[in-house]
Formats: sequence, structure tokens, C-alpha cells
Amino acid sequence: MTQREHDADLSRETLAVTAGRPARTQGAPVNEPVVLSSTYVSQGVPQPGEMMYARADTETWGPFEATLGALEGSAHPALVLGSGMAAIAAALSLVPHGGRLVLPRHAYQVTLGYARDLAGRSDVEVEQVDIADTDAVVAALDPAASPTGRATSMLWVESPTNPMLEVADLPALVAAGHAAGALVAVDNTFATPLVQRPLEHGADVVVHSVTKYLAGHSDVVLGAVLTDDAALREQLHGYRTVHGALAGPFEVYLALRGMRTLALRVERSQRTALDLAQRLAAHPGVVEVRHPGLPGDPGHERATAQMAGYGSIIGLRPAGGAEGADRLVAALRLWVPATSLGGVESSIERRRRFATESPTVPEDLLRLSVGIEDVEDLWRDLDRALRG
Ligand SMILES: *Cc1c(COP(=O)(O)O)cnc(C)c1O
Repeated sequence: MTQREHDADLSRETLAVTAGRPARTQGAPVNEPVVLSSTYVSQGVPQPGEMMYARADTETWGPFEATLGALEGSAHPALVLGSGMAAIAAALSLVPHGGRLVLPRHAYQVTLGYARDLAGRSDVEVEQVDIADTDAVVAALDPAASPTGRATSMLWVESPTNPMLEVADLPALVAAGHAAGALVAVDNTFATPLVQRPLEHGADVVVHSVTKYLAGHSDVVLGAVLTDDAALREQLHGYRTVHGALAGPFEVYLALRGMRTLALRVERSQRTALDLAQRLAAHPGVVEVRHPGLPGDPGHERATAQMAGYGSIIGLRPAGGAEGADRLVAALRLWVPATSLGGVESSIERRRRFATESPTVPEDLLRLSVGIEDVEDLWRDLDRALRG
């Protein structure tokens, strides 16, 4: 049995632990060593795959990239980059000058800012849609929706969306994107590959902010991009080599160390998030709770159909508007007031404190990232703060 056949039998939870290990030979280390070298001994005509210079490839990226590739069910290893935004910029480089990009009206705000930047300097037509409204997305993909009659080059999907937790119909959107001749890219940061695997739905490109759940300990900034298509991967690899938004070896080592416990962290934080969302929905100090795991949530049925769980983010609108939300954040002792998400520690943030957040995100919306602390401790802190 080859290693690949062996891996094909293993669950994702096991692969998170076993993928990307050194060969089992007597005396071999269990973890691939961190190699600190910018260059490699080399002379003569370079051979394919030869390590030559660390902007193109390093041994320390390999185990991380193999593990994430295995988790996403990709035919190829992932490509690690210096941040989630570096991975997103790499994926968006596939939109040609003069192309058309359809993306969600609610999504990671820096992604939306980057798309506007692309529109300004690369003659890319950008249209934002409600990604949960499949008919609206299909209509936006049609050249008739373009003021200049352009075909869509790329459909960008986030699901669940940051911070509104809208759930896109992934199989339907992949089919519609392909029917329109567009590449379909999915930001899978919120779900993680243990909960949702867009490549298996036919998506062309997947990006991650590795900073969040994959690394999981709020100690590194990293990103990754994946594709099943060898030619696209070559193009993305070329982009990384030329643009140089590279990942440091120590950061990649930490991210892989974090990924070894991904299954435990995701299982625990998802369970706690659903429990807290249910309790919050029944709390008198709460106006609205958004979480795809709640049966009444607009994304519930879709999430149940295409995800293995509902993620660990909760959208919460407490009573008292934006001031009430700010007071709640200030009154918490256990939840950390901070941006970012996906760490072992639970954190909370009012998203509209950023002037750049979409104006259709409610002023009083708090984004809760549920970590792995004891659920009763998290609840007591929230309940006390909600009672003011
Ligand atoms: C944080 C985040 C990003 C950006 O990743 P960085 O690692 O901060 O560059 C992209 N997409 C989503 C959904 C995110 O939450």
C-alpha cells in the first residue's frame, strides 16, 4: 500500500495529526526540522523540484502545505503565504486586467477594500451581491448585468460570511460560476477544512487566513491558497515567488503545531458556540443572535446540508444599540476585547467600530469568536455583562 492509498483511508481528524511527517526510518525525528537557510548548495542546470532559493520553496513549508492539502482533499499541497491577505491577493491575481469580479456585499472588509483597489488600478469591474441570495448571484454573473457587457472572470465566495454569518449555497454557486465561465474562489477561513471543503464542491481556489483557526493560538499571521488545478497552482506559485509575500519558517512551524490539535479545538469550540447561541437567544438583554446552528437562522438549512457543524462564530446584537454593545464589551472579564478570531481564547468585537466595515452591518453587531474555555465560565461572564 502506498502512502497516498494509506492516507485515503484516514479521516480528516487523523490526517491533521499524521500528514506531513518525516519518513519512518530508524532515528528519524517525528517532526520535520525547521530549516533556516535562504539558499541551497547547487550548481549547473537546475533540476525540476530542486531546492535552490528560499523565496521559491523551503523544506519548512512542505509539511504544513502537505497537511493543509490533505485536510482540504486537494490533489496538491497548499501554498503558504505571509498572511491571509497575501493569499487573497494571490487568488485575486487570477482576475485579468479588464476582467469582472463578483463578490459578497458582506465579507472580510480588507478583501472588499482590495477588490475596490483592483477596480481603480486594473480596470476590473467589481459587483457586490448578497451571497446568500442565489438568484441575485446568478443574475450578477450574467454579462447582461455588466454595464460594459463583460463576462465574469471570478466569483468570490465567503461562507459563512464575516461578520454577518450568511451561508452561501456552495454547490449551486460553483455550478453557476462555471456555467458563466468564471473561476470560483472560496474563503474557507470561518469553516476550516474539518467543517467544509469547497474543492469537493468543485471550487477552483480556496484561501485561508491561517492566522485564525488553523494556527489557532493568536501567535502568528499567515495565509494559504489551494487549488486542484495544476496549471492554476503553477500560476499561484509563480505569483508567490515574484511578489514575495513569504511566510517565515518559525511561523509555519507554529501553524503546523497548531493544526495538529485542530480537530479537538474545532469540536470543542463549535459545541460551546451552539450552546451559547441557544442561551443568548433566550436572554432578555439580547435583540438578535445570528448563528447558523440555530434552527431559526436564515442559513441553518444550507449549513446543515453542506457543513459538518456550524462554526464557532456568533453574531450578537445586545439591547441598547452601539453604546449598549460597547458597554457589554467593556464589562466582560473573561472574553478578550480584540479583533481577529479563531484562537483558543474567546474574543469579542463590535465590527462597526471600524469606519471601513460595510454600512449594512448593524452598528450594534458584536462578533463573538468562541474559544475552548469552560462553557459555564464563558456564559457566566456574558450573562453578568448582559445584565449590566
Ligand atoms: C482575518 C481574515 C482574513 C485576512 O487574513 P490575515 O491573516 O489577517 O491577513 C481573510 N478572510 C477572513 C474571513 C478573515 O477572517
